[in-house]
Amino acid sequence: MKKNEGTVYLVGAGPGDPLLMTLKGRALIEQADCLVYDALASATMLNWAKPGCEKIFVGKRAGNHAMPQTEINRLLVDCASKYACTVRLKGGDPYVFGRGGEEASALYDAGVAFQVVPGISSAIAGPAYAGIPVTHRAHNTQFTVFTGHEDASRAESSLDIAGIAAARGTKVMLMGMSRLQETMRALMDAGQGGDVPAAAVQWAATGRQRKVIATVATLAESVQRAGLSSPAVVVIGEVVQEATRLDWYGRLPLSGRRIVVTRTREQAGSLSSALEALGADVMELPTIRIVPPTDRKDFAAAVVDSPHYDWLIFSSPNGVKRFFEAFYSVYEDIRELGGARIAAVGPGTAAELKKHGLMVDVMPQKAVAEELIAEFDRKGDEFGGVANVTMLWIHSEQGRDIIYKELMKRQAIVDECIAYNTVPETEDPTGARLRLSEEGADVITFTSSSTVHHFMAMGISLPESCKVVSIGPVTSATLREYGMTPDAEAPRHNIPSLVETVAQLCKK
Ligand code: SAH
Repeated sequence: MKKNEGTVYLVGAGPGDPLLMTLKGRALIEQADCLVYDALASATMLNWAKPGCEKIFVGKRAGNHAMPQTEINRLLVDCASKYACTVRLKGGDPYVFGRGGEEASALYDAGVAFQVVPGISSAIAGPAYAGIPVTHRAHNTQFTVFTGHEDASRAESSLDIAGIAAARGTKVMLMGMSRLQETMRALMDAGQGGDVPAAAVQWAATGRQRKVIATVATLAESVQRAGLSSPAVVVIGEVVQEATRLDWYGRLPLSGRRIVVTRTREQAGSLSSALEALGADVMELPTIRIVPPTDRKDFAAAVVDSPHYDWLIFSSPNGVKRFFEAFYSVYEDIRELGGARIAAVGPGTAAELKKHGLMVDVMPQKAVAEELIAEFDRKGDEFGGVANVTMLWIHSEQGRDIIYKELMKRQAIVDECIAYNTVPETEDPTGARLRLSEEGADVITFTSSSTVHHFMAMGISLPESCKVVSIGPVTSATLREYGMTPDAEAPRHNIPSLVETVAQLCKK
């Protein structure tokens, strides 16, 4: 690439919930060759990047300072010489106290093409998630956004305290937590009414959201008592009166609840997002990781032979994924698979098959091996029974061999295709393990026996009040082996049912 030939996109990441990213921002992340991000960008968004995308962290990490702004500016200019598409991801909106203006200016000076993708600023989303409309016909006709980062008492402060105090309508302060008391004091000294309602919202639009409602005079003390800190937005104005009636977020079934998800990192997504949609603070604590099977040659050979079987039996969504990854590396066309009948151990596995346009012939409603066998017994006659038919059973190295034994008993000719292996997750990349031990949780979910085994192997002790929810009877039995009694079990043994069960258990 020629010098400075790439384009740098300054993309607003929104206030925290990855679903509040714009479609344009997401499309650019998917396309990016390089992502430059800081602490407020959610980890989920980084996963949207294509494989091989260079990811550069320039924010603050425990104990370390953030990269100085001049260095970030220089880095962005450098990126334009190395990558066609660089995305600079910034919390909220890039031009609202994000120093996006300085970055754009540095790019302009260096002759680098840049574009700006606005984002939902915490200045608006923070109040909205706390039940506060920044404008309301009954209360105001204007709103002011200001930074509380500056020392209001310093003579050379560029903060116009008198102007802010005198302004009418709603006032929203960002970056104001460390000097909250001084700033409120300075505003009151400059004429701001002390009894005007005021609120602080921390971690708005994330499961960790917390808020405090007080007045200008009492906010700092209330915030301190509640233990709220940065990042938070402060709202001053009569609109704060609406915060209780319009607290839609606080009324979600799982709002304020911390739920632990113990699936593998790549599988956690659907469960986590369903819980988050109900307002939960989801802590992903991956206990296992999916890796290739020990015998890769056997796996490859089984996949190559798969078109010759009368039946393909899939034991899990992961098995489907791994099988088809391997299948398409050998065959180009799904029709190469031939006309085999297909069985799936449950609806989740069937859904994964449907992504390949494949419908299942046999599937029990409950995702349990025994139920699959029972379903074969029930429906067997429809396709002439299982005796003497050839079957390929696709499963994990750790799978139970019930399916194999029972089908062999019924005279089927069963071959195994071991598609993957689950191993303990040894890293704590999200810091979830640390958070669980320090802050506790309301509910922990287990979605398979192996997540139970691996969770136990990690040696984490659960907080007393933490409830245990299992996806089904097999997982529950495994929990009991370890002396843990599940507080609830999902009646339909799938993710939606698990989510409903958690919500039921947390009913306020
Ligand atoms: N460009 C960002 C603001 C960056 S300044 C935006 O438009 O939102 C950083 C400040 O933003 C924090 O100190 C805090 O005041 C606010 N902030 C960002 N995300 C927040 C969140 N999820 N909840 C509360 N405040 C947030």
